[in-house]
Amino acid sequence: MLEEEIKKNINKCSRCALCVQNCPVYKIKKDENNTSRGLICKLAGYENGSLTKKEISKDLKICLNCSKCKHSCPSKVDTSLIFGYKNAEFSPSRISQRILLVLKLLPIKILYFLNFFKKHSFNNKTSEIAYFKGCVAKAQHKKTFLDNLFSKDEFLCCGMPYLAGGDLKNYNKSKKKNIEIIKKYKQIVFDCASCKSAVEDYNGLNEEEKNKLVFFSDFLDKKYKIKNNSKYKGKTVIFHKPCHLNNADFNKIEVLLKNIEGINYKRLDDIDSCCGFGGSYFIYHPVVSSVIASKKADLIKQSSADLILTSCPSCVIGLRYGQIMSFNFKKTLELRDFIENEIEISV
Ligand code: SF4
Ligand code: SF4
Repeated sequence: MLEEEIKKNINKCSRCALCVQNCPVYKIKKDENNTSRGLICKLAGYENGSLTKKEISKDLKICLNCSKCKHSCPSKVDTSLIFGYKNAEFSPSRISQRILLVLKLLPIKILYFLNFFKKHSFNNKTSEIAYFKGCVAKAQHKKTFLDNLFSKDEFLCCGMPYLAGGDLKNYNKSKKKNIEIIKKYKQIVFDCASCKSAVEDYNGLNEEEKNKLVFFSDFLDKKYKIKNNSKYKGKTVIFHKPCHLNNADFNKIEVLLKNIEGINYKRLDDIDSCCGFGGSYFIYHPVVSSVIASKKADLIKQSSADLILTSCPSCVIGLRYGQIMSFNFKKTLELRDFIENEIEISV
């Protein structure tokens, strides 16, 4: 069934190349083998027996799985499904990616230990809506206003790190458990664009269930004011659009930021450019990752922004990394934390 779905998507590609110019890896390497079209052609070659796994797996591994090609594809080819599963199939992990994830999150757990005692201010819980708290927010011991507003449930990791690392066993375990929980609620609220995108990509969720997945900014549709004592009052604020944030969610976030009195929201040039981090991507492909991150840092520098917001903790790290390399560092925060700490809001 899954294989059929993948084949169907490979065959849907019309080779139009509209995805090529949006691919962050192609922008650096200028090699068609690393674009969605190139990868799909090679996978079609594998299906008809003219290419081997070895001839494709190197190119598949360098794909960021950023979904930019999926978002720009007129034929609606589900490239995340194809590249995610084929990469895991061609380069299966020899060790449990779950153990690796726990190890990667350990320094964050220690660094943010004091957050465990932090208080938060809203208390309006609804039991029909559940909050999907990502692994990084959990490791940071963050009790955010979303914990207070919405139900907590035992969601597992969205699965993206497992799929990217070739660990289909843990990916399928996360997917199964999370789908069971999603079925119980009216809506599921996310604060991380990558988690939301990973869950939206689950085969096993029908359209109605996918429509339950929403971004927290959907609930913030009024005019707001920056706090009087905020150090960002009167400052220029930009937003980095994570590759996994779809245009509809981005448009709503932009409306929210424009509706905050007391800040000067400015759209960043080349808004769709990637931060280059991609989870563990920067460990396995440091050169490509660093070039992408530096380009992003240059755009940030040109914007003269005082504060950079985004909605994915991996992007926060990627943006900080790029700016440190470019010797131009501006405060970079998650949108959720900015809303909670700097905005006059009562929900
Ligand atoms: S935009 Fe879609 S249909 Fe066109 S080449 Fe890329 S993946 Fe294929
Ligand atoms: S997922 Fe991203 S990096 Fe991979 S081919 Fe598509 S646009 Fe390029």
